[in-house]
Amino acid sequence: MKASKGLGKVSELALRQRRQGLVKLLPPAGEVLRGSLVERFVTCGNPSCKCARGERHGPMWYLTVTLGPGRTTGGIISADLVDQVRRWIENYQRLKADLERISEINRELLRREQNALRARKRKGA
Ligand SMILES: [Zn+2]
Repeated sequence: MKASKGLGKVSELALRQRRQGLVKLLPPAGEVLRGSLVERFVTCGNPSCKCARGERHGPMWYLTVTLGPGRTTGGIISADLVDQVRRWIENYQRLKADLERISEINRELLRREQNALRARKRKGA
């Protein structure tokens, strides 16, 4: 296992503390949402409406979620829920990024444990 970039010179104690700090500040896992919030201004189709003259209705908010290649889902989000949805999306992205950082730290700790074990075996202990 190769050393993660940048962590190779950090002390083990510092790594454990960094991991503890990340774990403590993880966003609530129950309040996450994968997707993105899109703002749209729309026309209603009525030719005599102001939107037909360029004054579109909105903003209307949509959640779009990619399910796979070429497959998306989602729907309209009412204005009252936009803040919550925005927060949940943010939580999702932070949680994902934080888990990645924790995983990187664990990879480095594991590498050191592995080295220590190997050194101990070499000594015949
Ligand atoms: Zn209209």
